[in-house]
Amino acid sequence: MAAKRDYYEVLGLSKGASVDEIKSAYRKLALQWHPDKWVNGTDAEKKTAAEKFKEASEAYSVLSDPDKKAKYDQFGHAGVEGETGGFDFSGFNLNDLLNNIFGGGFGGFGGGFGGFSGFGGGGQAQQRVYRGRDIRTRVRLTLEEIAKGVEKEVTIERNEPCPDCGGKGAKNASDIQTCPDCHGTGQVQRVSSSFFGQTVTYSTCPRCGGEGKIIKNPCRTCGGTGLVRKKATVKVTIPAGVEDGMQLSVRGAGHAAKNGGVSGDLLVVIEEIPHSQLKRDGQNLFYTQILSVMDAMLGTDVTVPCLDGSYKIKVEPGTQSGSIVRLRGRGMPAVKGYGSGTGDLYVKFLVWIPKKLNRSEKEMLESIRRNPTFTPDLSREDRALFDKMKENF
Ligand SMILES: [Zn+2]
Ligand SMILES: [Zn+2]
Repeated sequence: MAAKRDYYEVLGLSKGASVDEIKSAYRKLALQWHPDKWVNGTDAEKKTAAEKFKEASEAYSVLSDPDKKAKYDQFGHAGVEGETGGFDFSGFNLNDLLNNIFGGGFGGFGGGFGGFSGFGGGGQAQQRVYRGRDIRTRVRLTLEEIAKGVEKEVTIERNEPCPDCGGKGAKNASDIQTCPDCHGTGQVQRVSSSFFGQTVTYSTCPRCGGEGKIIKNPCRTCGGTGLVRKKATVKVTIPAGVEDGMQLSVRGAGHAAKNGGVSGDLLVVIEEIPHSQLKRDGQNLFYTQILSVMDAMLGTDVTVPCLDGSYKIKVEPGTQSGSIVRLRGRGMPAVKGYGSGTGDLYVKFLVWIPKKLNRSEKEMLESIRRNPTFTPDLSREDRALFDKMKENF
């Protein structure tokens, strides 16, 4: 083994460095070489990092201790021999290490070390941000409500932060401890040796279930989960023009997350109540109007249902069964941002034929039966009409 480097040299300092300089230098090196930062590195990188970290930790453990520092300053490595063991901080989660040694708000890092959550990609569990689950619910709407847009209240049951412990799971901060098995990372690493060398595997810490924390004295209201089940009524603004099966989301109105995480969303699925008279296809509406033979032949006015009441339309004399009238702009609006304009209302006429006639009616109709007016003439202008009717068949 190579000769031991000078502790001051290891920390990049010269003899006589102040306590603050020693702290600061070690903090820098710990940030750089802590194994948490290198979990995704190559094996060689991990090895270098582990060695550098260990070396820096050892230097710091001696130089931060006034008694040992005095001995070291006087006698060098020989002065502290046998007193440097057991100072491998690599077992600590990086955040804990920095917090324990330097305190939460150590110089220049105002706001503590919260900014390190997600550090290194491997041991990040401690400050993992939890996200609450989404809640899916349905809301039933009439076509009239959909046409105008509407505000609906939906009642759901969801997890909310426990009012007694503020979502922390325990009433006192001292009842929440960093898990000693994983040091707050929520993960434990197992090193196994094989023919190919050492393999490090990470798994969820069994002691804390991946929480990184152990609650000694759980809040009675929530049993330590930090969450309670509550009924809640949420106002949902439904824009005009939505369709059956569409899903709206109300951000943050789902289940709350533990440890003050981000709440899930409330997903509202639209269910359209079928209209008794109007049929809908996208933005267009369809209505079937039955006409008597006389009204179809002589013409009349009819009132058709509309989403904003009813609408009077003229039936032209000689209206054919199966013909369609289009009422522009009487359909459904487009959902804002997903199209434009308003759909149409199509009215289809069907002519009803009486099944039984009395004697005088029969006689009257027989008298005009052979009139050319009542005879379909395929050679005339009706030709196009007949072709269209046959196509629709
Ligand atoms: Zn644990
Ligand atoms: Zn509670």
